[in-house]
Amino acid sequence: MTAEATQPPAFQPDSGPPAPVTAPREKTAIPKNPGRRELGMKATLLFPNKEIVEQYYVPLIYTACRTCYSELTPDDIFDRAATGQIDQAKMQKLISGVIESGHGSTIEHVVFTFGISGVSRTLSHQLVRHRAGVAFDQQSQRYVTFKGASTMLPASIEDAEPELRDAYNEQIAGSMDLYGQLVGAGIPGEDARFVFPNATRTNLVMTTNLRALIHMSGLRLCTMAQWEIRRLFQLIRHEIFQVSPFLGSFLAPKCVALGYCDEMGNRDEHCPIRPHKDNVLGAWAEKSKAAKAAGRELTVK
Ligand SMILES: Cc1cc2nc3c(=O)[nH]c(=O)nc-3n(C[C@H](O)[C@H](O)[C@H](O)COP(=O)(O)OP(=O)(O)OC[C@H]3O[C@@H](n4cnc5c(N)ncnc54)[C@H](O)[C@@H]3O)c2cc1C
Repeated sequence: MTAEATQPPAFQPDSGPPAPVTAPREKTAIPKNPGRRELGMKATLLFPNKEIVEQYYVPLIYTACRTCYSELTPDDIFDRAATGQIDQAKMQKLISGVIESGHGSTIEHVVFTFGISGVSRTLSHQLVRHRAGVAFDQQSQRYVTFKGASTMLPASIEDAEPELRDAYNEQIAGSMDLYGQLVGAGIPGEDARFVFPNATRTNLVMTTNLRALIHMSGLRLCTMAQWEIRRLFQLIRHEIFQVSPFLGSFLAPKCVALGYCDEMGNRDEHCPIRPHKDNVLGAWAEKSKAAKAAGRELTVK
């Protein structure tokens, strides 16, 4: 997020397109993702497996959607859906429409549990900020005494000048060494861990319903997200695609569903996945002005 003070004034529809606030950056196509390197992290879908997803998940969501508009009872609808009496394409069409309309409770009925390992504490702190529709359990630094805790090396530091990279590595090794000395001297692990850097790796179990997963993916697959958590959600999306390409297709940067980018940091559109909303509104204002000048009102088709 950008500090409040650096924000330009809000765009007023009648005042024409907003003036550019930052020097335009080069359009880079989709920004390079350093997280594509082998980072030693894993995300594994623990539950459900493909058979369960195929047999029950789409029928379950369909049942939730259909119940709203049907005289049939939920168990009748589910029975028909889960025994192949309703066409898959028909179920998917209804579900897609309902998701696009934002009727999100229908997709809270299915959950996914992931085993996440080897991610840094920097990542886990961001991940556990998600509160709605998601549960976490994380490896304890109190109850686990680490004998060689491993750490994450960011690509920018790996590629930095050798002296800088060595200084980083020494600092990390020094912290880990001191941790060992403290534990060896009888200091409890819960206190010795205070020397751990943010780079320390950790493991979590995360269970999330589909609505929360789509929301989190929208934020974390965005190119404005931090590289490590973006990489994690790429792995998560891959896992969902393995069990259901249909459900996996809803995991995308938030701009894909919105149709525009709403990130302040992308006003210069250096990330070109979708146009920035300021430019969309700006184009609309220009069109509206031209229409007024021609003596007609602009109508939405
Ligand atoms: C690119 C990026 C940069 C970030 N930078 C910072 C930063 O600098 N500092 C910082 O502190 N955080 C930062 N965050 C974290 C961010 O502010 C959120 O805390 C985090 O993304 C969790 O998302 P969420 O609030 O949508 O919560 P979720 O728990 O995922 O909630 C999902 C949705 O449920 C609704 N909801 C949940 N709880 C409530 C509630 N109590 N009341 C009303 N509605 C609710 C909201 O609509 C919410 O969007 C950043 C996140 C991103 C993606």
